[in-house]
Amino acid sequence: MAEKPQLVNNLPEDVETDECMNKYTHIYSPDLLSDQVAFITGGGSGIGFRIAEVLMRHGCDTVIASRNLEKISQAAKKLTSTTGRRCLPIAMDVRQPETILAAVDETLKTFGRVDILINNAAGNFLCPATSLSFNAFKTVMEIDTMGTFNTSKVIYDKWFKDHGGSIVNISATLGYRGQALQVHAGSAKAANDAMTRHLAVEWGPSGVRVNTVAPGPISGTEGYRRLGGSHAETAGAFHSIPLQRAGNKTEMAHAVLFLASRASSYVTGSVLVADGGAWLTSANDVERLLGFWMAEKRKDK
Ligand code: NAP
Repeated sequence: MAEKPQLVNNLPEDVETDECMNKYTHIYSPDLLSDQVAFITGGGSGIGFRIAEVLMRHGCDTVIASRNLEKISQAAKKLTSTTGRRCLPIAMDVRQPETILAAVDETLKTFGRVDILINNAAGNFLCPATSLSFNAFKTVMEIDTMGTFNTSKVIYDKWFKDHGGSIVNISATLGYRGQALQVHAGSAKAANDAMTRHLAVEWGPSGVRVNTVAPGPISGTEGYRRLGGSHAETAGAFHSIPLQRAGNKTEMAHAVLFLASRASSYVTGSVLVADGGAWLTSANDVERLLGFWMAEKRKDK
C-alpha cells in the first residue's frame, strides 16, 4: 500500500511550555526587525510568549505587558537570556486606559520608539449561553475588544500617529460559523476583525498598517487546555481538519512576523487565518462540547 504523503515535513520548532526553544531555524532573515521595538500584550505566556521570542530572534526589543508582573518578569528573563535582546516587562490591564498610558510612557522612555503592537491579550473559556453570566460576557468583551481598542488608541496617539507602525491583532475563527459554547469570545473577536478594517482605513494615511492573525487550535497553550483541545485530539476530531493536526505556537509567531514586518508592506486591513483549514471542515458539535464542559465542571467541584 502506498504510504500516506507527509502533509508537513518542515514544521517549525516549538516547545509545549512557556520556555524558549532550544533550537530555532530562521525562515526570514535574522535581521528582519533589526533595532525595532514591539509592544506585546499578554506576552508572558502561550502564543504571546512565542511571538515575543520569534520577534526578538529577528533583532527586535520587546515590551511584554499583562496583569501578572511576576509571570512577565520571569518570562522577560528567559527571553533576554535566549535571544540577547532587551525585554521590558510592564504590569498593565488592557481594560484600564490609565495603566496603558503609563506603560507606553515607560516604553518610550526606555526604548525611545515603538514600531509594532501585538494585541494578543484575551480571556476565554467554554460556556453555553444560558449559563453565561452577564458579567462574564461583559468581561470577555472588555478584555478582548475594548482592550484591543484601548491599547491601539494609546500607541497611535503617543507614537504611531507621527512615526507610522504596524498593528497585529490576534483573533480567532470562532465567530465564522457560530462555534458552540463560544458566544462571548466569538462576538468579541468578530468585533476585533471589524476594528482591524476600520483602523486600517483611518490610520493608513499615517503609515500605520493594521492586520489580524486568526489562529485555529494551537497546542501548548492555555486556550488549547481550556477549550478542550487535548480532548478533541484524543477523540480523533482533528482528522477532520484539512491539515489533520493542531498548529504550534511558532507557526502563529511566523504569521505574526509576516504581518508585523516589511515582508507585508502593502498589506493592511486583512485577516490571515492560520488554522490548517479547520474552520472550513471541523464539526461544530454542541453535544460533544456540552459533554466536555459538564465533565470539566464536575472535576472542579
Ligand atoms: P494565554 O496564555 O492565556 O494568553 C493570554 C494572555 O493575556 C495572558 O498572558 C494574560 O496574562 C493576558 N491577559 C489576560 N487578561 C488581560 C488583561 N485584562 N490585561 C492584560 N493582559 C491580559 O492564552 P493563549 O491561548 O496563548 O491565547 C493568546 C491569544 O490567541 C488570545 O488572543 C486568544 O484568543 C488567541 N487564540 C488562541 C487559540 C489557542 O488555541 N490557544 C486559538 C485561537 C485564538 P495575565 O494573566 O498576566 O494578565
